Amino acid sequence: MNYEEMLNRGRSSMPKETGDNHRFEIPKLKARLVGNKTLIQNFKELSFTLNRSENLLSKQLLKEIGTYGTIEKQGLLLNGKFSLVFLNQKLKDYCKKYILCEKCNRPDTKIIKNGTFLKCEACGFTKPL
Ligand SMILES: [Zn+2]
Repeated sequence: MNYEEMLNRGRSSMPKETGDNHRFEIPKLKARLVGNKTLIQNFKELSFTLNRSENLLSKQLLKEIGTYGTIEKQGLLLNGKFSLVFLNQKLKDYCKKYILCEKCNRPDTKIIKNGTFLKCEACGFTKPL
C-alpha cells in the first residue's frame, strides 16, 4: 500500500457526517421598523427552517410576542415597535416551547391533535402545549 492509499483508507474510515441536526441552532431574526410597525424580514426562511407552516408559525409567534400582525410579501409585519434583542429572545422562548423536544433537544417535532400536543419524531416524547 502506498502513502496515498493509506491516506484514502484513513479518510474513508472517518465517521461520516450523519446529516442530523442534533446541534440545532435557533435562527437569528432579521427585522426593521416600518413606521410604528416591525417587519420580520426572514419570516419565510424561518418557517422553512423550523418546518412550520407560515400560518401556524405566525399565530404562535405573535402570541409569544404578545401582539398582532399580518403575513406580508416582505415578511411578518408586527403591530408595534420591537427591538431585535427582544424579538430574538421571544423566538428562543418560542423554539423551546414549540419546536425543540424537551427530552432529546432535537427540533424534529410536529404539532399534533389540532395544535394541542407536540410530538418528537426522534424519540417519541409527547407533551401538551
Ligand atoms: Zn425527542
